Amino acid sequence: MVQLKTDTSIEAMREAGRVVAQILTAAREAAAVGVSLRELDAVAREVLRTAGATSPFLDYRPHFAPTPFPAVICASVNDAIVHGIPDDHRLRDGDLVSIDAGALLNGWAGDSAVSFTVGRASPDDTRLIDTAFAALDAGIAAAVVGNRIGDIAHAIGTVCRGAGYGIMEGYGGHGIGRRMHEDPSVPNEGRPGRGMPLRHGMVLAVEPMLIGGGGDDFRTDPDGWTLRTTDGSRAAHAEHTVAITEDGPRVLTLL
Ligand code: MG
Ligand code: MG
Repeated sequence: MVQLKTDTSIEAMREAGRVVAQILTAAREAAAVGVSLRELDAVAREVLRTAGATSPFLDYRPHFAPTPFPAVICASVNDAIVHGIPDDHRLRDGDLVSIDAGALLNGWAGDSAVSFTVGRASPDDTRLIDTAFAALDAGIAAAVVGNRIGDIAHAIGTVCRGAGYGIMEGYGGHGIGRRMHEDPSVPNEGRPGRGMPLRHGMVLAVEPMLIGGGGDDFRTDPDGWTLRTTDGSRAAHAEHTVAITEDGPRVLTLL
């Protein structure tokens, strides 16, 4: 069931979203050649601690997961698409890194992700990352009262497919509020004019996940979490938490 949020609740979610933006900013600033993913997780933990927030990622265990998630960020490098566990991998020049982070503050959740290159970026990776953000922007622009979920999905899918990239079937955005994952689900591909009507007070995490090779196939690592492209191509992920209001979409996960 979809929980509509009051304007007061949206203001509270904005504060949770701000903490998420602080995490992503700090992690991105810390990400450099030779830095480990575990060190980025430590940076994120410090931001949460300073803000008096907790992590909806830590110890999260959805039905598919063999173990509770052990970190406060997901760090997915190169052919890892999403859900990478921060480990002792040290970043190398040219790595494409996706960082996904969440925060719980005063009982409200925020969820956002960025992708970027460490060191020298290849033109192919830059195009992939830019397209992920363009798809995110298109999805957000479609998140208006009077549209439907399918309009968001169609907007995202059109940008991704138009650039020749693949889309992970069965993964996408979601409602968010007291919990990180709520109804409805927000697919990254769909038909315009279909699905649930968008209403003032709906808050959605919009999150395109692009596969650079153009196919839609992916597999799960032996760790049970990391989702990786099957063809070895690189992937990019971009996400914001967005409130749908009568005044238009409001991105909550900004500084
Ligand atoms: Mg996320
Ligand atoms: Mg999400």
